[in-house]
Amino acid sequence: MARYTGPVCRLCRREGMKLFLKGDRCYTGKCAIDRRAYAPGQHGQSRGKKPTEYGIQLREKQKVRRIYGVAEKQFRTYFVEASRQKGMTGENLLRLLERRLDNVVFQLGFATSRPEARQLVRHGHFIVNGRRVDIPSFLVRQGDVVAYKEASKTSPRIKEILTNLDRTPPQWLSLDANAASGTVVALPTREDIQMPIQEHLIVEKYSR
Ligand code: SF4
Repeated sequence: MARYTGPVCRLCRREGMKLFLKGDRCYTGKCAIDRRAYAPGQHGQSRGKKPTEYGIQLREKQKVRRIYGVAEKQFRTYFVEASRQKGMTGENLLRLLERRLDNVVFQLGFATSRPEARQLVRHGHFIVNGRRVDIPSFLVRQGDVVAYKEASKTSPRIKEILTNLDRTPPQWLSLDANAASGTVVALPTREDIQMPIQEHLIVEKYSR
């Protein structure tokens, strides 16, 4: 299925939590979750039926997919890869998603949301270890250096982002704000992922 391009605040309202898909707006009183904290659609405010076990597992999977902006097919590919790795599949899955280049760009504060990070990567504004990479799903490795291209720093939007750079990156990344670059000092651990995610529900869903 193609990537979702519709109104994103609906997705947060469906999941009942902020997914931070709209950048600065997510931190203001205009956030739809703060103003209409119920599911979208005609029956959004009705109490509805108690969700089934499958329904709960499905919602958790959709939530994580939406946080990272990953299509269903690609998400399953991540799951297969995670289940091949040593250790807990759920944790492996999150750690793989966290290593995506668009997520790294967001975590470093080089974009105000993951969708914006994805677009900036797609438009070729980033280099990894000195080479242009325009694939949002590119997986970073320990020691990689992700930076804005010199030429991109003159773009008004990018100038604005770099002027207001105030994000504290997670421990596995180190930021050099002056050079507009960041280094992957270690691979992410489960503790580095702060969003409330119950990954065991995703594993249960795919194990049915
Ligand atoms: Fe979600 Fe941001 Fe919209 Fe709030 S403003 S509902 S966090 S996308």
